[in-house]
Amino acid sequence: MKPAFVDLLACPKCGSSFELMYDGHSAEVDSGQLVCRDHHQFEITGGVPRFVDSELYAQNFGFEWNVHSLTQLDNARSDESERTFRAKTGFAPEDLHGKRVLDVGCGMGRFSDVAARWGATVVGIDLSTAVDAAQRNIGSRPNVHIAQANIFELPLRAETFDFIFSIGVLHHTPNTRAAFDKLPRLLRNGGRIAIWLYEKHPLKWRFSDLYRRFTPRLPKRVLYRLSYGAIPLYFTYKIPIVGLAIHWVLPAGDHPKSTWRVLDTFDWYSPQYQWKHSYGEVLGWFEEHDLTDVRVLDVPVAIQGTRRAVGDQMNPASQASPPRTTSQ
Ligand SMILES: [Zn+2]
Repeated sequence: MKPAFVDLLACPKCGSSFELMYDGHSAEVDSGQLVCRDHHQFEITGGVPRFVDSELYAQNFGFEWNVHSLTQLDNARSDESERTFRAKTGFAPEDLHGKRVLDVGCGMGRFSDVAARWGATVVGIDLSTAVDAAQRNIGSRPNVHIAQANIFELPLRAETFDFIFSIGVLHHTPNTRAAFDKLPRLLRNGGRIAIWLYEKHPLKWRFSDLYRRFTPRLPKRVLYRLSYGAIPLYFTYKIPIVGLAIHWVLPAGDHPKSTWRVLDTFDWYSPQYQWKHSYGEVLGWFEEHDLTDVRVLDVPVAIQGTRRAVGDQMNPASQASPPRTTSQ
């Protein structure tokens, strides 16, 4: 970690600031301790501050993102993560440039990478050991900070971020709504938050929900081997009419790239928690947090909102103004 990261952190137990203890004066701290004023202590190992003792319910993601640490990271041949990021957050490079951004559930860092390339200072947090992959991939960049932390005990100062995004993560916690509730307070006044969640659908997930009754309990390596079934299944999906039925009954990753199919399939069947939500439900959460300028994006269920600036609260006229869709 960079010593400057300390300025963004707050003790998850008592909220006080940290002192960074480490040997030397390097720009990157590989090992050391963070000690708060109340003497709560957290270790820094492998260049990553650790605010949790275990991965809890996210072990599958630690496994997944260390096996597939580079699969979805953009490179000279693919900008798919950048396109996904735009679609699921509604954020553009000019929004994020020079801003402070939080990636909630950064995994191996595919979306933190995008925000960092756009010129933001990015904090990526994840409960799982995926942070080790993220640290390897992007952690050495001067504008990236990675931490292993629990969303329900975040080690971050309030009103710190200009932008927060969480793409496909909150629905994998024990309670999506409770996880979302932890985030708006971290926004500065006028800051924006975007989340993407799995869509609630009456029919779409019927069979996978059935299989998921036991797949999260399989040994990870067994389930990972089974996920290779997605490679040939993809071709059966292309059979006219019959393919649609096969896809419905045996749903698996259908990305054109075979490695992504395996990853997507494991990612779908391995999580302990996988909640699904409707637009109406999530819009209600944004409303209850008094977020304004709420934008519903095209990819279900992706929603963006803005924390009301202090002046806005005093001005009833601004509450009645139509939603702005331009960047701040
Ligand atoms: Zn403390």
